[in-house]
Amino acid sequence: MARFYALTTGWCPECRELIPAGLTEEDGCILLDKMCPVHGSEKVLISRDVRRYKAYFNHIRPGVRPKYRFTSDFKGCPDSCGLCPQHRQHTCLPIAEITSRCDLACPVCLKPREAVFEMSPEEFRESLLKLRSYEESLILLNLSGGEPTLHPRFSEFIDISAELGVAQLTVSTNGLRLLKDKALRDLFIKNRVVAALQFDGLTEATYETLRGRNLLQTKKEIIRIFEQEDLPYSLVTVAARGVSEREIPQVADYFFKSKALSLMIQPAAVSGRAQDNFSPDLRLTIDEVVNNLETSKFIKPGDLAPIACSHPGCAASAYYFKVRDGEFLSLMEFLGLEEYLRVTANRSFPGLEPEGHQIILDKIYDRWSALSPSQEDKVLMSRIRSFLKRLEGQDFSPNRAFEAGRESVKSVFVHGLMDPYSFDLARLVKCCNHYLQAGGRLVPMCAQNLSLSAGKSSETL
Ligand code: SF4
Ligand code: SF4
Ligand code: SF4
Ligand SMILES: [Zn+2]
Repeated sequence: MARFYALTTGWCPECRELIPAGLTEEDGCILLDKMCPVHGSEKVLISRDVRRYKAYFNHIRPGVRPKYRFTSDFKGCPDSCGLCPQHRQHTCLPIAEITSRCDLACPVCLKPREAVFEMSPEEFRESLLKLRSYEESLILLNLSGGEPTLHPRFSEFIDISAELGVAQLTVSTNGLRLLKDKALRDLFIKNRVVAALQFDGLTEATYETLRGRNLLQTKKEIIRIFEQEDLPYSLVTVAARGVSEREIPQVADYFFKSKALSLMIQPAAVSGRAQDNFSPDLRLTIDEVVNNLETSKFIKPGDLAPIACSHPGCAASAYYFKVRDGEFLSLMEFLGLEEYLRVTANRSFPGLEPEGHQIILDKIYDRWSALSPSQEDKVLMSRIRSFLKRLEGQDFSPNRAFEAGRESVKSVFVHGLMDPYSFDLARLVKCCNHYLQAGGRLVPMCAQNLSLSAGKSSETL
């Protein structure tokens, strides 16, 4: 017998329309139970772990309403995207898709084959200026595509980001051009731009299935060069059922032993080109990925919690302080759940603003002033204290904070992008990952991916 939890709005992948849907519990799983008046009903797996799914809803925190308004009135969701006055979360991560050019044709690509786009640096500057006038500061910005490094005027995007005060620029990349082009790598190094490198696993078969080519040795060579030249990078892993879920703990171990700053695991979303090549079963649930991660040598059960700024069904994260080589302490273990959520809510990097900073300092004081702190505790506390000290000073500088973070902090994220099967409108309204379009419009990432995969232009959203 199914238990009914909530009514929401889903999407029919056949007629590409919004349809009524319910969240239900059946046989220990959470399902999105959709009903299309034309194409009938469909049940989509959302979670295999009801206990964890329900616990995640205890983590909801109030959002920060965006001041940014592209659309002044609300005509219905997601038809008013822009952001509109009903949107419930500001932009934590703006993403500029600067070109659809690419030197791969991955079967798992989210973009449909026919999607062709290119943003000019002039359009980029105008949009970024608009965003800056609404957000207090531009902490994070991601350039994406396609393969953004193939934009013929790529270096201008880096210059503009620096000029307009972006503290941390990341570039999503398959790494092929960076491998061949030393001058491009030097540009990244000089500007401290982080390469968010596609890295799907540690077997040849995974790359052949997801990327259409065996790229394993190429990826290892790219990482070797990044580390040798001290090019800052993070790893982005698309994990897929029946393909790579067993590799997840090994990828995490590899990450903790590497110089990579963060690991982002994205359960494969079956959108765009992936819809032509795979069945929706490819998508793992967030709890399946988290359960797999927790078998890594470096990750303990409970380290990951939902990111408290978006919808709790969208993403989970964990942060780790490096105690010494090969030894890490999770921020969750250090702070406990309540304070962890306070420190991480509504911000892209925890502990950098006064409240979060103070919470961490107080915790250090508590542990330090315990009756008999162990030797291990003393080493750890002094390490964290010296990290925080580097952030202090007359003026807080996000750039300085990121530099300090690079040496002492590692983060792990799981981001479950929605596809036409798993789409749930309730998640979209609190989305904090927004595509920055020419003209200054901001569109929640899943709304845009879905509209393209549904063959609608983003203009209609
Ligand atoms: S997703 Fe957000 S911005 Fe888009 S229409 Fe809905 S509430 Fe408005
Ligand atoms: S997934 Fe990325 S690298 Fe692969 S084809 Fe799509 S844009 Fe190119
Ligand atoms: S991009 Fe999609 S999955 Fe991520 S926060 Fe936004 S709505 Fe949620
Ligand atoms: Zn339908």
